[in-house]
Amino acid sequence: MVANQIAAGEVIQRPASAVKELLENAIDAGATKIQLIVKDAGRTLIQVVDNGKGMNFTDARMCFEMHATSKITTANDLYRLTTKGFRGEALASIAAIAQVELKTKQHEEETGTLLITEGSQVKEHTPVATQDGTSIAIKNLFFNVPARRNFLKPDNIELGHIEEELNRLSLIHCDIDFSFYNNGKLMQQLPPSNLKQRIINVFGAHFKDKLFSVELDTEVVKISGFIAKPENTKKRKNEQYVFVNQRFIKHYLLTHAIETTYKELIPEGHKPAFFIEITVPPATINVNISPTKIDIKFEDDRMIYAFLNSAVKKTIGMHSLIPQIDFNYLPEYDFSGIKPKDEIKPPTLTLNPNYNPYNVKSEKKLSTSNSWEQFLSGIKKETVATTSLLPEKIAFTDDNNNEEFLDETQIKCLLIFDSYLVYCYKGSLHILDVKAARERILYERFLNALESAPIVIQQSMFPESISLSASAAEIVADILSELRALGYELEQIDRTSFAVNGTPIEEESSNLQQVISQFVEMYKTHQFLHKTDKNSAIAKSLARQKCNSQLQMTTEPEQQAFIKQWLGCEVPYLSPSGKKVVKCFTNDEMQRFFE
Ligand code: ADP
Ligand code: MG
Repeated sequence: MVANQIAAGEVIQRPASAVKELLENAIDAGATKIQLIVKDAGRTLIQVVDNGKGMNFTDARMCFEMHATSKITTANDLYRLTTKGFRGEALASIAAIAQVELKTKQHEEETGTLLITEGSQVKEHTPVATQDGTSIAIKNLFFNVPARRNFLKPDNIELGHIEEELNRLSLIHCDIDFSFYNNGKLMQQLPPSNLKQRIINVFGAHFKDKLFSVELDTEVVKISGFIAKPENTKKRKNEQYVFVNQRFIKHYLLTHAIETTYKELIPEGHKPAFFIEITVPPATINVNISPTKIDIKFEDDRMIYAFLNSAVKKTIGMHSLIPQIDFNYLPEYDFSGIKPKDEIKPPTLTLNPNYNPYNVKSEKKLSTSNSWEQFLSGIKKETVATTSLLPEKIAFTDDNNNEEFLDETQIKCLLIFDSYLVYCYKGSLHILDVKAARERILYERFLNALESAPIVIQQSMFPESISLSASAAEIVADILSELRALGYELEQIDRTSFAVNGTPIEEESSNLQQVISQFVEMYKTHQFLHKTDKNSAIAKSLARQKCNSQLQMTTEPEQQAFIKQWLGCEVPYLSPSGKKVVKCFTNDEMQRFFE
């Protein structure tokens, strides 16, 4: 009955699928130590040895029968899964296509059981002396299904799949001691540890200084884990792990909630690594487990999205924005409004009600500040920092903070190599890359101009005319309104030339022909290389063009004003193209440096 309510299917597609099933069974059996031994990437041998609760003589025979699960009794249990397996078809499926040798012993028993099968036929079933727990060896997988065997990929690929299954389980079961051998070689040794140490053990010591912890604890959802620091993202996307109630899942929405936080902070095309564990009451999710993938539906997608997004944002905000800069200007996150047993509403209330995560067009609404400010504004208005995009406006509204901020920026600074400002700020030595900082300031200013506050235009008495290549002219014609928002009032005269009727009020006289044509060149490459949205591409390109010119900054007040502007940026520590803007040394680091 129960069995009939569960769709059976193709369980074992490749060695890695068998590995997954065996490891999950060992975990379900309460093992604290699990060994995975494979030969030829699992083709000839997959063996899992555990110290779990074992099986008795009869169960050892029964476990190879279809639907021999010992893990559920009613169909309802499906919705409150606490074990990995429940279908009771994995071992039966494996036995049908391999030679299996099972040795198992329950702790309280004197002797264990040996069972040997081949293509589901029992060849031997006898008592045997063996250690507590279970060892299952699967030999010659697909020995009787040549088509399947021939479809296997080269060893390194199959081995990669096996490793991935092991990673997914070992990262969420850090208390279990795992080891993994291929062809007699130790591939992975994972002693019990906390998650951070496990990540380091699995992926390598280079992760040691690359992780920020994420922590959020409410009545409806607990989130914990680690994310990569923005400066440590990679082009590849293979270190992204989200677990919901101890199951590895792939969920577009959750990945998006994390990745969107990194926007603007990392070079385009880069992906952050993350290891996030989400725990929700089982009744609020609907898990539909088919043999090969897990489909999970949350009762309230948007709430989970908002919580995850804010937890990650909080972490990034707290750590990355160079703590020395100023906590007063970072948004605070306060979930204190959410009390146990309250009906949890804040995120639902404050998110765009029309937001549909699956609708790509609405994605822009989600992107960084918009959704975030909406979300925050609903949670606790007064804690939202006044991080305006316009440096002039930064937080000069709050008297106390403002004074401190001003005092703090009356700092001694020094321009060296014509390129770096060196100064001490809040207990740290900063070396600021002027060009990168300027690019950041300009980018945020331009983006703000495009999105909400156009730059004031000064009309020209004698409009200059510029002429461009045909392709450049086409682009300019297409973005005339954006250019106007940035202070450039252009009017097309013929196919390739434009009259410049107005320029940004603060712009000193400049070579307009050069500014516009260089800008268009950058915009073209930008559009071609990266699929950012239009405004962001335009703002980036113009910022890049502008920061090529020499900045006049000879006096100390000028330098201080510049630093102040930069400190007022939303994401000060990275240039729009993802370059580091500042290097900070704390007193401690200085001391260590001279040790
Ligand atoms: P499921 O895990 O879905 O129940 P399986 O075919 O994977 O189905 O396993 C069938 C049964 O065999 C399990 O329910 C469990 O009772 C038993 N079993 C399998 N592996 C082990 C193990 N390593 N230790 C103890 N019992 C096991
Ligand atoms: Mg199982």
